[in-house]
Amino acid sequence: MIILDGKKTSNDIKEEITNQVKSINSSLGKTPHLSAILVGNDGASETYINAKVKACEKVGFASTLVRLPDNVSEEELLSEVDKINNNQDIDGLIVQLPLPSHIDEMKVTEAIDPKKDVDGFHPSNIGRMALNLATYLPATPAGILELLKRYNVETSGKHCVVIGRSHIVGSPMSVLMARNSDPGNCTVTLTHSRTQNLKDITRTADILIVALGKAEFVTSDMIKEGVCIIDVGITRVKSEKTKSGWQLLGDVNFEDVKEKCSYITPVPGGVGPMTIAMLLQNTLLASKKEFFS
Ligand code: NAD
Repeated sequence: MIILDGKKTSNDIKEEITNQVKSINSSLGKTPHLSAILVGNDGASETYINAKVKACEKVGFASTLVRLPDNVSEEELLSEVDKINNNQDIDGLIVQLPLPSHIDEMKVTEAIDPKKDVDGFHPSNIGRMALNLATYLPATPAGILELLKRYNVETSGKHCVVIGRSHIVGSPMSVLMARNSDPGNCTVTLTHSRTQNLKDITRTADILIVALGKAEFVTSDMIKEGVCIIDVGITRVKSEKTKSGWQLLGDVNFEDVKEKCSYITPVPGGVGPMTIAMLLQNTLLASKKEFFS
């Protein structure tokens, strides 16, 4: 069994980006710039945003964090998005989700200039992705593709089963694995909470991508020998084994399945670090203005 090491791979990617930033600096005299908007002070969102800002600093990007209060109106938030859309010094813009319930998330996503949409959530970028046109791919699915590519996992002609159909992971992942590209060219089955006989389907998977948010849901009786497992889930549970009293668990019971797999991503240290690396990659692409010419 081979561990798909997202921590090491993401560090390799960050190093590659750092070198490219240096060359952009010297040839174009500019620094890629990511702007992030955070509404309210939800603990998990703070952690994610801080990690993204820190990663920007590490590779030599400029970053701006715009903090807005919990009770900010939708109109004020949209006006902030508009300001950043029109700021020529800023290459990429992300709005940390979830937003408070009085704000329409899709309206905000659609307000972001697709050229700056480095999260890849804008409907026009999702459309470009489905049509196999150059665009910003959503970071988590892009990170999974990059891991499969860098570890030379064969995907062509394989049966890929995806568990979970969220807009940010499961759905785009199913589209990407079915595309005529490498990695890709899989026969894909997308499963979700209404799927019947899930185990019968997962047992036929050559590649199993799990993103449902239920700790240790996938067990050895649900997989076949030699499967490649990508575990996207992150659930924080209380634990007596750690100093902090908390532990992160994936959607897959790692200890139970590991002997049966050909490849597997650990949690933590698998898909998670790749997500941030891909956000940086998208920001670098945005600064080069290679798309949408
Ligand atoms: P979500 O919570 O939006 O949706 C869960 C999906 O799972 C739904 O489509 C639902 O139909 C499906 N589902 C629920 N129960 C099911 C069942 N019993 N059988 C089959 N399908 C079932 O999903 P999300 O936002 O994609 O998040 C999924 C997990 O991935 C969470 O743990 C989240 O924290 C994690 N996540 C990790 C990263 C990362 O960078 N590693 C990024 C995004 C999400």
